[in-house]
Amino acid sequence: MMENRIYNFNAGPAALPLEVLEKIKDSFLNFGDSGMSITEISHRSTLFDDVINDAVARTRRLLKLDDKFQVLFIQGGASLQFSMIPLNLLGEGDTADYVNTGTWSTKAIKEAEIMGKTINVVASSEDKNFSYIPKNISFNSNAVYAHITSNNTIKGTQWASFPETGGVPLIADMSSDIMSRPLDVDKFGLIYAGAQKNIGPAGVCMVIIRDDMLKRVPDTLPSMLKYTTYASKNSMFNTPPCFSIYMIQLVMKWLEESIGGLEEMAKMNQTKARILYEAIDASGFYQGTAETDSRSLMNVTFRLPDEALEKQFVEQALKNSMGGLKGHRSVGGCRASIYNATPMAAVEALIDFMKNFEQKNG
Ligand SMILES: *Cc1c(COP(=O)(O)O)cnc(C)c1O
Repeated sequence: MMENRIYNFNAGPAALPLEVLEKIKDSFLNFGDSGMSITEISHRSTLFDDVINDAVARTRRLLKLDDKFQVLFIQGGASLQFSMIPLNLLGEGDTADYVNTGTWSTKAIKEAEIMGKTINVVASSEDKNFSYIPKNISFNSNAVYAHITSNNTIKGTQWASFPETGGVPLIADMSSDIMSRPLDVDKFGLIYAGAQKNIGPAGVCMVIIRDDMLKRVPDTLPSMLKYTTYASKNSMFNTPPCFSIYMIQLVMKWLEESIGGLEEMAKMNQTKARILYEAIDASGFYQGTAETDSRSLMNVTFRLPDEALEKQFVEQALKNSMGGLKGHRSVGGCRASIYNATPMAAVEALIDFMKNFEQKNG
């Protein structure tokens, strides 16, 4: 660990690769020999064109996207996508299926309903406080899309494999696990991810959309709310969030060149999550909150015997240079977010701390 930096287990905004942060620091005052910072150059310059095009090209290579897919950068976070998806894709008489696996799915459903769209919630894990991923779901064959949240950041569950939809295109909110593992993109009509969990800073949402979905976009929407506007203008109809896109470019470069692609990334993520869950399961003190076969490899949620101990745990962890371990305010408990950029050493340090804490308090 570098001096003055802590092991960061924040859920989002979250840890970014140190290598990327250092690169930004080094080139911040003079980007690409322009004599200006990346935050001072024109988005219409070739310098920035190179940034956005490289971010897209690397995203395409990492996820093995073919020409059917477009990679877009849109402001408004993942939350705006909750509205943009139904606005753009559901016309008069159309319906869509939604699976409710927690807070973010619930919000996506709510936004579609606010606009009076017809949607069916075809499965939900609300009956057990969203502690699992539903199985054997029947989707409606006439649905325009089936919406899921691939990783439930707050409840600590994740789809280990994606559901069989009988040909209905999947739409996934991958805010907290995009680029954490290889993907079979053919099943997806649209993938979106707020950058600030796993691929960059806040301020931009990556949207990957298939051509046939773009064809559904009605002319009657305001320009800034239409996917086609972003697709036809390389995400630069207006000024894009240049700095956020630049950071995504650097994180994609790190994934390709330092990590070696998503297969390698997935192996590391599996190991980090496995050793942490093993430590939890081996103790009688810590209790995982998600059902075993639905556990997230990104957000590890657990409880201690009581809330006073949880508070002490979070405080003492911070004194030991480990931050961000408090669970989401809506659920309490503890949560260690171990995204791509969280090094193995951080997880090992956390496990040591947990053993120590248990010995003193168990
Ligand atoms: C954080 C998060 C969101 C919300 O993202 P914003 O960019 O803040 O709108 C949506 N979905 C999931 C799965 C998240 O983790």
